[in-house]
Order: sequence, then C-alpha cells, then structure tokens
Amino acid sequence: MRITVLAGGIGGARFLAGLRTLGHDITVIGNNGDDVTLFGLRICPDLDTVMYTLGGGISADRGWGREDETFRVRDDIGAYVAASGTDDLPSWFGLGDLDLATHLVRAHWLAEGLPLSVITARLCARWEPGVRLLPSTDDPVETHVTLAAGERVHFQEWWVRLHAAVPATGFELAGASGASPAPGVLDAIAGADVVVLPPSNPVVSVGTILAVPGIREAVAASAAPVVGVSPIIGGAPVRGMADACLAAIGVETSAYAVAHHYRDLLDGWLVDETDKDDADRLNEDGLLARAVPLWMTDLDTTARLAGAVLTLAADVRQ
Ligand code: GDP
Ligand code: CA
Repeated sequence: MRITVLAGGIGGARFLAGLRTLGHDITVIGNNGDDVTLFGLRICPDLDTVMYTLGGGISADRGWGREDETFRVRDDIGAYVAASGTDDLPSWFGLGDLDLATHLVRAHWLAEGLPLSVITARLCARWEPGVRLLPSTDDPVETHVTLAAGERVHFQEWWVRLHAAVPATGFELAGASGASPAPGVLDAIAGADVVVLPPSNPVVSVGTILAVPGIREAVAASAAPVVGVSPIIGGAPVRGMADACLAAIGVETSAYAVAHHYRDLLDGWLVDETDKDDADRLNEDGLLARAVPLWMTDLDTTARLAGAVLTLAADVRQ
C-alpha cells in the first residue's frame, strides 16, 4: 500500500518507526513550521527528527538531535554571550557538534540554489530512513506565535526559550501565502491508499503542514481514507506542550476535541483505551473511532498501533 503521513517531529517520527516495520510504501510530508534561521544556518528540526529517528542516528534520551553528541560549539558561543553583555545571540537553541555538520551541508546546498526537497533527499541518501521524506514546501515558511500581550515571536522563541509558559493567542505560518507544496506532495496525497495524521501536535505540526496552500484541500479531496491517532491521552499530551497550543486556539485538550478539530478531514480516529468514552461519543457523532493502546513505548507496541491504523482505514473503506 501507498501510505502518506503528515508528520511533525518526535511523535510523528516514533509512529513512523512502527509503521515502517509493516513493509509498505511510505511518503512522509514533514512540517516546516519549526524552521528557523540561526547563525545564518537554516534549521529544519522536524525534518531532521524524522530523518535521524528512522536513520538510527537520533538521541534516544532527548528525542531530537544526534546520539553520542557533544555541545562544545554551543558552549563556546556561550562564552561570547557572557562576554558581550548582549542577549541577541540565540544560544538557547541546542545545535550539537555532530548536528552542525547537517546544518553546514544544508546551508552549502541552499547557497548553491538547491531546493529544500532536493537537499532533504540528499541528506536522506546518507541516513536511508526507508521512507520518502518530503518537506511540506520548498518556500521559506515558519510559525509565528502571537503572545497574550500582543507581541509576535518565532515559534522556537516561544517553545524553546519561553517553554510555551507564556500564554499565546494564535499561530500563523508566516510565508504561507506565497508558498506552494513541494514537488511530490500533492501527488503523494492524491495517489495514497491511506492518508495518516500520526500523533503529532495538531496545531504546530499537522496544522502548519495543512496551512501550506493546497495541502488541506488535497487531503480533503483525497479518495483514500484519512485516519488519525490522538496525541492526547487522558486529557494531556504524552510529551511536550500541545495543551498550550490547543488552549491558544480554543480547543480543549482531549482526544475528543482534537478529532472534532480535524473533523472536516477525518474518516477515522484512534484514541487510547483510557479514553474509550471519547470514542463512544465520536461514534455517536458519526465518526468511526476506536480505543486501542496509544503509548508508543517500544517498537513492537508502536507497530501494533500502526497496524490498528491500517485496520481502521480498511474498515473505513468498506
Ligand atoms: P514535535 O514536533 O517534536 O513536537 O513532535 P510531533 O508534533 O510529531 O509530536 C508531538 C506530540 O506527540 C505530542 O503532542 C505528544 O503528546 C505526542 N506523543 C508523543 N509520544 C506519544 C505516544 O507515545 N503516544 C501518543 N498517542 N502520542 C505521543
Ligand atoms: Ca516540531
């Protein structure tokens, strides 16, 4: 089967590791909302998390960046921060020494004029993720966050520097109006047998992929079942600060509310066993929903979860 997955970073990548074991033809449409330029380097955190996770290079502890990493460059930048007395150096963003190699290579190819989709494929030639990884767009986009006080900051500033602890009132994919889907993205959606929304952040991962003009429309028009997995279990995110994102756009942090947030796209939805009530209510609302174990604790349980997604898609088709 041809399976197309709209994936963010850690949640998306872990799900993909399980799905990959089932032996299908997988295309991943990655999130560029997290992208940022720091120290003149274009950073694409979610693309790299998918690439490193599936390529066996991810830090198991952190879930982002490289295993066996050191941070000598970052720490040395810290010495400039301390001595300069300014806070305009983004030393709060952790780029490890090995990770820097990826970023220097990407910067070199970008300077040569190669599109991000071609660069991503070249980086993946080394990591062999076993899926086709596409950026959502080759055009520069990035998520901006409006804070309750009215100020607008880059998503990474809010997420990493402020730990999403400052209330936000909205998100915008800056650059989206001039952006178009990367080559292969719309074909991957139109030609899929199943489209999957994995347990990624609904607002700043899946939401920002869908914000690239044409992608939401393609998913809505897809003849294939569109099935999703809740990133919310028991009213809380498993990891990260998705609750702060959902609160900002007025969506309750529950498996039920996230399904309704996607309602115009979804044909099927998986919630955790502890949220069986949510599945019952969704079925009453007319959405095919099922309660299965959603904790991606190891590769076997994650593969079983991916299998449940495909079973749900098959049932949608009937
Ligand atoms: P990020 O870009 O690194 O934040 O990663 P994603 O957007 O792809 O995924 C983040 C989401 O993954 C969070 O909202 C988590 O709740 C969710 N998540 C992480 N681990 C699990 C898990 O084991 N099960 C489920 N259902 N969701 C998870
Ligand atoms: Ca992300």
